[in-house]
Amino acid sequence: MSEAGASPTRCMHLDMDTFFVSVERLMDPSLNGRPVVVGGTPFQRGVVAGCSREARRYGIHSAMPLRQAYELCPQAVFLHPNFTHYAEYSDRVSELLEDSVPVLEKASIDEFYLDISGCGRILGEEGNWSHRLKHSIMGELQLPLTYGIARNKLVAKVATNVGKRHGDMRVADGGEAPFLAPHHVRILPGVGEVMERDLLAMGMPRIGSIARLSIQLFTNMFGKHGRSLHEHSRGIDHSPVLPYRRQKTLGAEHTYMEDVLDPREMEATFKYLAQRVGRDLRERGFLTRTITVKLRYADFVTATKTLHCDYTNADHVLYRMAERIFRSLYTRRVRVRLLGISTSNLIEDYGQMFLFEEEEEKYDGLYAGLDEIRRRFGKHAITYGSVLEQRNGPSGRGPSGPQYAVSSMQ
Ligand SMILES: [Mg+2]
Repeated sequence: MSEAGASPTRCMHLDMDTFFVSVERLMDPSLNGRPVVVGGTPFQRGVVAGCSREARRYGIHSAMPLRQAYELCPQAVFLHPNFTHYAEYSDRVSELLEDSVPVLEKASIDEFYLDISGCGRILGEEGNWSHRLKHSIMGELQLPLTYGIARNKLVAKVATNVGKRHGDMRVADGGEAPFLAPHHVRILPGVGEVMERDLLAMGMPRIGSIARLSIQLFTNMFGKHGRSLHEHSRGIDHSPVLPYRRQKTLGAEHTYMEDVLDPREMEATFKYLAQRVGRDLRERGFLTRTITVKLRYADFVTATKTLHCDYTNADHVLYRMAERIFRSLYTRRVRVRLLGISTSNLIEDYGQMFLFEEEEEKYDGLYAGLDEIRRRFGKHAITYGSVLEQRNGPSGRGPSGPQYAVSSMQ
């Protein structure tokens, strides 16, 4: 294994095949063999989030408007995405991989880089080991995948993409440039639509034709992107595999300066804590389904209680849950010293790209706006009306700092 932050000397890239559809098929095997489009109903606004190989044969691809996909293949099965399921399966793949290799990067919901530099002694012969790893994931989770192995991340990823059509590939050290040369420039990470058009216009459809020319030509044309394009065309890439750490819990607590008895004050505290935790979840890209409330009485007796809900990172849901838990938890008529909300069972939130529920869309826009204001003007810049009320109220002991309020979001 290479040192943290160092570029690998041997790297595996692993990509789940038609991931969303594969998970849907686990839940409903009648989808096997049929053209399937995940994204929503054909008459909704919105785009294809994923589709099956059978659907691709009709020309359907990710990010295509759903309506267009329907025109191409009206007999396809159109499904609403179920990100909770996808994220859960993605976490299970991460867990299996983490058990096998020391350094794992999760590049997206269905894509992983493994730094396997110098792992020969632990893992055994690379070809056998990678084959076993793939089949253990496929055996355990029933999800198909493709992998590529090469000296670096870039070439390993290209090997995976080539392997989607031709089977898993391993590129021997030193064989990077000859491996890349015959492939279309489009397959190189970093080559977008515009650059592809320019390269085609220059008569360079293949990666090999870039590698043969001088770097100067490309830096003149594309600036610093030209330099990396030229390096990439020769299979050079120094980016490290960035280790992925699973966040287990996220929470916030508030200790009162003076112990409180006023329920409105506690309510205000929960609103404030829900905002903080919600913002932290969103900033770190997590959803939670487990909420725990902690209550410490003035005599230091502490009580906690946990409830589950659907995956969320919305302040108003966290607040509602916390209030519900608190009502059943606060059983003694004793002053309160501390209140806390913590969340666990976190999964990564890949939903922002695919908003379908109007309700969700509304709240998502709202929270994105609030988070932006808090980033720019400080975390207390916006809060619920009742938090502010408590602050400015007679006791003045509420959570500190808000300057102005927005209307309540319940
Ligand atoms: Mg994939």
